[in-house]
Amino acid sequence: MGAATGLPHAVCVELARSAIADGPTAYAEPAAIERAHHYRRTLLSPVINATGVLLHTNLGRAPLALAHPPQAINVELDLTTGERGSRQHAVGGLLATLCGAQAAIVVNNNAAAVLLVLAALARDRQVLVSRGESVEIGGGFRVPEVMEQSGAQLVDVGTTNRTRLADYTKALTRKHADVALVLKVHPSNYRVEGFTAETTIEQLATLPVPVLADIGSGLLDAACPWLAGPPPPWLATEPAARQTLAAGAALVTFSGDKLMGGPQAGIIAGRADLVAACAAHPLARALRPGAHVLLALQQVTLAYLDRTAADTIPFWQMAAATVNDLSIRAHVIVADSGRGHVVPSEALPGAGSAPGTIIPSVAIEIVGDHLAAFREAATPIVARSRDGATFIDLRTVHPSDDTALTAALAALPA
Ligand SMILES: *Cc1c(COP(=O)(O)O)cnc(C)c1O
Repeated sequence: MGAATGLPHAVCVELARSAIADGPTAYAEPAAIERAHHYRRTLLSPVINATGVLLHTNLGRAPLALAHPPQAINVELDLTTGERGSRQHAVGGLLATLCGAQAAIVVNNNAAAVLLVLAALARDRQVLVSRGESVEIGGGFRVPEVMEQSGAQLVDVGTTNRTRLADYTKALTRKHADVALVLKVHPSNYRVEGFTAETTIEQLATLPVPVLADIGSGLLDAACPWLAGPPPPWLATEPAARQTLAAGAALVTFSGDKLMGGPQAGIIAGRADLVAACAAHPLARALRPGAHVLLALQQVTLAYLDRTAADTIPFWQMAAATVNDLSIRAHVIVADSGRGHVVPSEALPGAGSAPGTIIPSVAIEIVGDHLAAFREAATPIVARSRDGATFIDLRTVHPSDDTALTAALAALPA
């Protein structure tokens, strides 16, 4: 059974035992092979994201090519002096340049970045947060709970739909006020509409305490200078690190694997003294990224600085593809497989980025619900179904996967 399933012997023994325990012995072997097949599908593997959601949280957000030779990395060694160096130095410096910040450091994810800033700069002190921004982002990131874990005290200001500068000033001048920071949170995954008002970074920057902006999505520069054309319209409402710092935020935090298109990481960028305080906090050691993450982040950062991001970062390849390119690919796949037909589609940024916006796209529609069959493909394909039809959105499929898609389509039962 081991050879037939490709699973380690110890795993096969457990699966065989459980099959024998659960059913009649005569059927134990096919039952065990069935379990082995199911078990193999629980292992991590490459998949083809045909959902049209660019940053799909269940599929690891931004896709990234990983190629590491089996060699050591000078993660904490300064090669010019031979002395011990800082793992934050190289990538932090590149990130700072990219965002127009004095300094930057990297931790495991953005939740860790926010936690570290609050713990390092506001422990046992107050942090002002608009009631409209005391949000839950998904995956359990809830502003009041992160605040509690950091040891900082959340002070709600304003109301759910309207918060003005005067609300912050009132909280700052209250008797016994001991405010360390103002936290502005981008409410990533929802929008408040109607009778609303929020206070801008420019306004908050006039207050006598530093402003921490959790922009979440990790757009580095609103002008997207790494793209050949203007920034895509669906990014218009996303805050960007460079512009948020230029507007007066003392620090920004964001994810590495959302709009930045890098590995899972959290970035803290801004004023050098504040970044240094974060780096020196004991939690920084517990939240530090590994050498491979730093290496991947360095590659991505260099691609932005070299202006090659649109061609080399998979997220920007997906985001920047034209509808015409996608349409040509879709027609070739339909012609070669003899299945489905080409329809217009709407892709989504995903991961709570640019909520409510869509990205024009192209899909292949196949009559019937084939989601389970697609997940069984040699490289599993994750698609969407609606109203008795299955849709393969080409925007999130890397062109190198078109052949595999064609084969999977041709193999569907007629
Ligand atoms: C996504 C997001 C987070 C959480 O980031 P992770 O990298 O998933 O930890 C926090 N804040 C905002 C505003 C976000 O959009």
